Amino acid sequence: QAKNLGRNLSCFFDPLLQSALQERRSMEHDMRSGLEAGEFELYYQPQVEMGKVIGAEGLLRWKHPERGFVPPAQFISLAEETGVILPLGEWVLQSACQQLAKWARHPRYAQLVLSVNVSPKQFHQSGFVEQVLKALAEHGANAKLLKLELTEGMLLSDMDDTIAKMNRLKSYGISFALDDFGTGYSSLYYLKRLPLDQLKIDRSFVRDVLTDPNDAAIARTIVALAKNLGLHVIAEGVETQAQSRFLEDIRCYAWQGFLMSPPVEVLEFQRLVTYGNVPGALTPALSPASL
Ligand code: C2E
Ligand code: MG
Ligand code: MG
Ligand code: MG
Repeated sequence: QAKNLGRNLSCFFDPLLQSALQERRSMEHDMRSGLEAGEFELYYQPQVEMGKVIGAEGLLRWKHPERGFVPPAQFISLAEETGVILPLGEWVLQSACQQLAKWARHPRYAQLVLSVNVSPKQFHQSGFVEQVLKALAEHGANAKLLKLELTEGMLLSDMDDTIAKMNRLKSYGISFALDDFGTGYSSLYYLKRLPLDQLKIDRSFVRDVLTDPNDAAIARTIVALAKNLGLHVIAEGVETQAQSRFLEDIRCYAWQGFLMSPPVEVLEFQRLVTYGNVPGALTPALSPASL
């Protein structure tokens, strides 16, 4: 027994483990104070369709005074585990609604749809619906231009609550995308029940779509599935003209990716909306007015 205790204690005081714990604590502290200090920023990655920027995905960026630029992969999961995602996620919603309200005053940006990521803990907290509605109301943003990106894993726990929340938000005009589609635990049963508007083809399938017949088949299948379920579809992670052409061939016309632009600051995003050429796209459809 004493031996076991000894082993456990030595494990507990493992210097590596201890420094890892300290690092987590200091990151958590830095996230909270960084939020207060305005170190977080929303970047915008254009989403394009038929030669036009139709909207953006808002992606969090953290500019830490000493750590420098910290990518979401290094802080989102810790934020989720520690609960920091709750104030952080609310900040993202506020920031997105504020931006939508600014765009509404400018004819060139007034139709842009802004999509933001919602984490499981954030979505499942009790006042989430009210939080979204409050952000929209406080800035006077149009709910029809706000899209929320959910991930497959989070939809499994308490389906009835999830569906109820989604339907309440949808009744105000908010839409829903299923992010990273195909990488999670989704079953067709969930897909049928959830009031989604859009599937996002995960970039892991897009990457090798030209060289891996399985990825090509998966991409095709997701597009067909979306079509048959009456959902929109968008591809993530498009980096080459050839990928965008393949997607057009399989009738997936909306995409985002480095081929158009990485996520950028709002002014740069607006510059892209105004002057950016959308590469690899079909000739824009003739509008009724031009016929
Ligand atoms: P996601 O929502 O799937 O976002 C897409 C990620 O793919 C972004 O990474 C984006 O920069 C990257 N990406 C876009 N186009 C390309 C491309 O052509 N090639 C490659 N290699 N990558 C591309 P990012 O910004 O680092 O974000 C990573 C993840 O962090 C996001 O994945 C999302 O799950 C999470 N995240 C980011 N912002 C937020 C947020 O505000 N709230 C929450 N809960 N999660 C967020
Ligand atoms: Mg996303
Ligand atoms: Mg994604
Ligand atoms: Mg992803």
